[in-house]
Amino acid sequence: MTAIAMPAPDQAVLARRQEILSALQAIVPGEGVIHDEREMRAYETDALTAYRQLPLIVVLPETVEQVSKVLKYCHDNDVKVVPRGAGTSLSGGALPLEDGVLLSMMKFNRVLDIDYDNRAVVVQPGVTNLGITHAVEYEGFYYAPDPSSQIACSIGGNIAENSGGVHCLKYGLTTNNVLGLEMVLVTGEVIRLGGKHLDSEGYDLLALMTGSEGLLGVVTEVTVRILQKPETARALLIGFPTSEDGGRCVADIIAAGIIPGGMEMMDKPAIHAAEDFVNAGYPRDVEALLIVELDGPEREVDYLIGRVEEIARANQASHVRISESEEERMTFWAGRKAAFPAVGRISPDYLCMDGTIPRRELPKVLARMRELAEKHGLGVANVFHAGDGNLHPLILYDANKPGELDAAEAFGADILRLCVEVGGVLTGEHGVGIEKRDLMTDMFSEADLKQQQRVKCAFDQKHLLNPGKVFPVLHRCAELGKMHVHKGQLPFPDIPRF
Ligand SMILES: Cc1cc2nc3c(=O)[nH]c(=O)nc-3n(C[C@H](O)[C@H](O)[C@H](O)COP(=O)(O)OP(=O)(O)OC[C@H]3O[C@@H](n4cnc5c(N)ncnc54)[C@H](O)[C@@H]3O)c2cc1C
Repeated sequence: MTAIAMPAPDQAVLARRQEILSALQAIVPGEGVIHDEREMRAYETDALTAYRQLPLIVVLPETVEQVSKVLKYCHDNDVKVVPRGAGTSLSGGALPLEDGVLLSMMKFNRVLDIDYDNRAVVVQPGVTNLGITHAVEYEGFYYAPDPSSQIACSIGGNIAENSGGVHCLKYGLTTNNVLGLEMVLVTGEVIRLGGKHLDSEGYDLLALMTGSEGLLGVVTEVTVRILQKPETARALLIGFPTSEDGGRCVADIIAAGIIPGGMEMMDKPAIHAAEDFVNAGYPRDVEALLIVELDGPEREVDYLIGRVEEIARANQASHVRISESEEERMTFWAGRKAAFPAVGRISPDYLCMDGTIPRRELPKVLARMRELAEKHGLGVANVFHAGDGNLHPLILYDANKPGELDAAEAFGADILRLCVEVGGVLTGEHGVGIEKRDLMTDMFSEADLKQQQRVKCAFDQKHLLNPGKVFPVLHRCAELGKMHVHKGQLPFPDIPRF
């Protein structure tokens, strides 16, 4: 374990482990409850692998009724619960708690309804992101948000993290593509939000739940919008002598009113790592590489390709290639899509950061990042969703060298503070989790954070759902004016502070 502290485990809950286990086994029979230490190891971390913790017990329910009963039992008996999908979170959102039940939703893996008339698909939360596209692609449809982890990550996890991907610049993040949810609240109540219709009545709780990182309820059913595949897609591969030129080109493309299907940038270390790994034909003599994809009707795409090329040349592009076939377009993307594993080959470990900046600040932020790399004595390779201003700096370190993980975390924190300083935000698409929890005060005022926690209290007064994530300080709901204090006795005096 490193610097980020988690709430101290509740000794009373640890002492009741056997009793809790028996109660959960009565709700989820057979193999649905895992308590053997060796078998629980598979759940001890997510994709923020620097942090590991065995859970108290793992439960894999198969029905909504079981989820409801598990949550009600945990609520009534003051046991914490960490919901989990596929465990690919990069911010530690699914990190277990020693005194908490890990609630895996991966047995909820069925596609329930495909409705082309309403362009909607209803799935259980454990269905993978790509699984939704697979279910409808034979009719020419697809689900647009496309995290790089889409082969593995669950749609429930995507909802919890408001995940994004290359195509979200044009088609929106998860929140723009979710139509309805069924959720179980920590008390065991089942609620439904939205549906196949376009607008929701009353407050838009659907948007509130999307990105709530498992803190407000457990998603048990998801209705998403599907889109028809565009008629054509072509891509440009553009190299620049400086990243400043690349950054300006991105801003000029958007300012010209063009919204590409995807617009991704890589810096020199990332270009070289990707090229060494997949031989995508990337130029090595450039400082920044931009992939711009245009999609839509063929004539429109041809016109826009020409416009983007003009803008690129006006920004000193030293290398321009335009895909002439589907195969070539896929080759352009192959390097970008393999960038993370490619960087894994040049460094024993890396931390993948995630922050967002206003697009025009890109050159300044890249220059400052180079200074920070020198200050912390570590390398960095940059891959970004350039169109959205969403940065993914990969900080290179060696976990076996004493002090390097701490240095990498300090470097990462400096990068995120820089994002906030230039008018951006701490997250792009990976969530806050534990990774960015302690930086929340760099972005939000005390009043902002208290207001957010009032929302948490409205759904989970005992702070039992995924505690220790997102909020740097847990206020008692009583302090936030949400709880009735009778004769000076706080209902939940033990809510942990960390
Ligand atoms: C190689 C790699 C590439 C990635 N690329 C991207 C990318 O391009 N874009 C992107 O956005 N992310 C990316 N990610 C991050 C990750 O895949 C996403 O955050 C994803 O949405 C997590 O889904 P999951 O099913 O793995 O959720 P988990 O990791 O299991 O959980 C994530 C969070 O969701 C909560 N949760 C999970 N299921 C439920 C549920 N049913 N109800 C309530 N809460 C729930 C958990 O409590 C936790 O807080 C990447 C990760 C990896 C490892």
